Amino acid sequence: LQALILGAYDGPLTIQELRQHGDMGIGTFNRLDGEMVGFDGRFYQVKNSGQVLQVTQDMKTPYATVTFFCPEKRKKVAYLDNYMVLQNVIDTMISSTNYFYAIRIHGLFNEIRTRSVPAQTKPYPPLTEVVKGQRVFTYRNIEGNLIGFRSPLFVQNIRVPGYHLHFLSQDCSKGGHVLACQIQKAVIELQRLNSFDLLLPCSRHFHDLPLKGVSQRDVESVEKE
Ligand SMILES: [Zn+2]
Repeated sequence: LQALILGAYDGPLTIQELRQHGDMGIGTFNRLDGEMVGFDGRFYQVKNSGQVLQVTQDMKTPYATVTFFCPEKRKKVAYLDNYMVLQNVIDTMISSTNYFYAIRIHGLFNEIRTRSVPAQTKPYPPLTEVVKGQRVFTYRNIEGNLIGFRSPLFVQNIRVPGYHLHFLSQDCSKGGHVLACQIQKAVIELQRLNSFDLLLPCSRHFHDLPLKGVSQRDVESVEKE
């Protein structure tokens, strides 16, 4: 996560290779070209223009998290006013915050606010600068899926601690990194994950970075609204 914040936007891993590690997940693409969201084995790229494209096998990623999703818990919910309320509801479904949880939420959203970041050119600016040029999209009365993870606080240098969800509309035409949402009704599905494999990028950029730990302020500024 700190490498990404410092501008390591190119990785050697192809989507084909990533798919060997999971059929559901989130991330970004080389040059930071949009937001990745995938489930049921189909992966999509939400461009900064708002356009959603199906990902090709040869595309590469500097940062992504995937799992083979096999939900163990399921809960139907009615109206949830905002993203924080949704997070609180999921918190009541989990037994311990010391594990990872994979999350899929299929629902009808009164409103959802997402963002996508623009592809960068070298020399890459840090992510804290890039997000100033992010585009924010607001969609109303839309059906779709939220996909993502809840990660323990102790992995804060590796992953965004707490909730990190991406959205894909039912018709796969809209999506992005979730900033805010209001749910009309939804089904929340969860899977507890008690193992975590970390694959580091074999790139010159990553090799030479002075990685010492990420500041919470930087994480907040790149991931939250
Ligand atoms: Zn994201």
